Amino acid sequence: MNNYDSTTGNVLGIKSIVNSSHDATFAGQDATTSVATQLLLLDRDGVININHGYVHKSADFDLVDGIVDLVKRANVAGIKVAVVTNQSGIGRGMYSEEQFVDLSQWMFRVFQQQGAWIDKVYYCPHHPQAAITAYKQQCQCRKPETGMLEQAISDFGVLSQNCSMIGDKALDVECAIRAKLAKAFYFPAVAGDRSDANIGSGHELLELLSRYEGSNTKVSTIGSLSEVMF
Ligand SMILES: [Mg+2]
Ligand SMILES: [Zn+2]
Repeated sequence: MNNYDSTTGNVLGIKSIVNSSHDATFAGQDATTSVATQLLLLDRDGVININHGYVHKSADFDLVDGIVDLVKRANVAGIKVAVVTNQSGIGRGMYSEEQFVDLSQWMFRVFQQQGAWIDKVYYCPHHPQAAITAYKQQCQCRKPETGMLEQAISDFGVLSQNCSMIGDKALDVECAIRAKLAKAFYFPAVAGDRSDANIGSGHELLELLSRYEGSNTKVSTIGSLSEVMF
C-alpha cells in the first residue's frame, strides 16, 4: 500500500499514484525532485490504452499507437506527464483499488522500458451509483469535475495556462476548459475501441464548445497522437 499518495498535502482528497520505478536513466525526473513549467495531462482509456471497457488487467492493456513517442517527446521537452482517469470500475466493484495501483505501476514500467517517463496517475474511484458504499459519492474528482486537474497543477507547481490535456471524450475537453488549461486535444475513438461511449461524440463536442464559447482553452481535434504540439 506504500504506493498511495492520497493523503499528504491533498486538500481535495484526490487519489494519486507516484511512479515508483527508479531507473538511472530517469533519476531526478520524478515530480518531487525536479521543477517543470509545463504539464501534459493524459486521459488513460482511449489515449494510453485502447478502451476495451473497464480495462484492469495488463493482458488487456493494448497501447495506443504513438503514445510512447508522445510521452518521450514531452520528456525531452522537459514537460511533466501525468494521467488523469475516471476509474468507476473500482466503485462498481469490478476491480479493486489495489489492482488498479498495481496495473498503474506496471504501466509506468512499460513506458520506462521504452525510454518514456510518466510521473504520476491521478484517479477517481467514485461513482454516484457505485455498488461499494465507500465509493458512492458525488465527488470533486470525477471528470468533468476538475479536482484531479487542480491537484496535479498544484502538485507540479505549474500554471494552468501552461498545461495541456488529451482525452477521447467530450468530458475530457470540458474538464480542460473548466480548469482553464491552455490546450485540449480531442482524440476520438481509435480503431479497436469497443466502448460505445464515443458514439455521437463529434456532436457532443460541438454542443460543448458552444456552451463554453469565450473560453481561452484552445481545442483541437486530432486523428493521431503525432499531431499533438505542446
Ligand atoms: Mg477515455
Ligand atoms: Zn472521485
